[in-house]
Amino acid sequence: MIYLDYSATTPISLDVLDSYDKASKEFFGNPNSLHSLGIKSKELISSATKQISELLGTSENEIIYTSGATESNNMALIGIAMAHAKKGRHILVSKLEHPSIYAICEYLKNLGFEIGYIENDQDGLIDFEDLKKKITPETILVSVCAVNSELGIREPLKMIRQIIKKENSETIFHSDMTQALGKVSVNVRDVDLASFSIHKIYGPKGIGILYKSNLVRVTPLIQGSSKENVLRPGTPPVALIAAAAKAIRLGIQDLDRKETFIRKLKEKIVSELNEYEGITINSTKYSIPHILNISLENIKPETFIHAMEEYEIYLGTNTACASGEESATLMALYNDKKRASSSVRISLSYLTTTEEINRFLNCFQIVYNRLNSLTAI
Ligand code: PMP
Repeated sequence: MIYLDYSATTPISLDVLDSYDKASKEFFGNPNSLHSLGIKSKELISSATKQISELLGTSENEIIYTSGATESNNMALIGIAMAHAKKGRHILVSKLEHPSIYAICEYLKNLGFEIGYIENDQDGLIDFEDLKKKITPETILVSVCAVNSELGIREPLKMIRQIIKKENSETIFHSDMTQALGKVSVNVRDVDLASFSIHKIYGPKGIGILYKSNLVRVTPLIQGSSKENVLRPGTPPVALIAAAAKAIRLGIQDLDRKETFIRKLKEKIVSELNEYEGITINSTKYSIPHILNISLENIKPETFIHAMEEYEIYLGTNTACASGEESATLMALYNDKKRASSSVRISLSYLTTTEEINRFLNCFQIVYNRLNSLTAI
């Protein structure tokens, strides 16, 4: 099997699985219980949280556990909107966000919030002038992803923050950092809130994090009895939290070395795919090397992906593509419906080997030529 869909999810690391396994067996007490088993579980959560906060550069009480980035995004955007609606009802987002952000924006729009979209250039970089122009005294929130999930475009968050705060010091800045953590260095202090998902960094599914600066107020989305975990009441998933700490620790190790290796693999793929007439490279100069997006001129992406699967090669496409719709991200960059509805994503990991890429390229050629000749008839 050659797995090249690491941006969709990653296989769990055996070290992380081991932490999960041990914590599940040895720390089964409810951390909300008063007895010693409960206290033991609570202590494990505290030490995991301490480790995570050190690794991310936050305070311990700025880490909130969620089920994944979708929930973190909901908690951030809806929580901010509810808490600050009296100040203003204007929210700005980029055109390169994950679909979960747009779904939340749609929900907020129905509640009477006004959603604005920040323009970007053809390489996906946020248009700073447009951002500046669109921030008003009513803008309560701006959300810009750190790395876009389809094309891997990385945004300069620090600079974006400076612009936002200069225009309106009360505007809160959120970033979906799901595709950035474990791939490039992230600085949560560039933003007020940040979303993360642990299954993207070789951890288990079902656990995510919302970093929320202590200076920011959000309204809880769910109600419960817990006095400590006000934003996420209920019994905390002890073993998932322990596994998250391990996954983050391992995930952010050796980033430069991993990136250099992945860049070489990506360059090899790009140089070969550039030889095909009907293939366009969609990733830009701002894309991180881990995510390579291409469009196929004459072949439906889902047909191509299933044909590659016959060789046990697993690639990604955006969900909109599979249903024949355009990718919002590709439209935002190229405004070309055909290109935006025919994209395939090749996402790489430090686990990917040169042999895998060689085999991938061989199979790619076979599949591409076969399918391309069919469409020519
Ligand atoms: N945001 C981004 C940028 C993502 O790539 C993803 C996962 N595709 C999500 C949010 C949703 O993450 P989760 O599966 O943890 O809810």
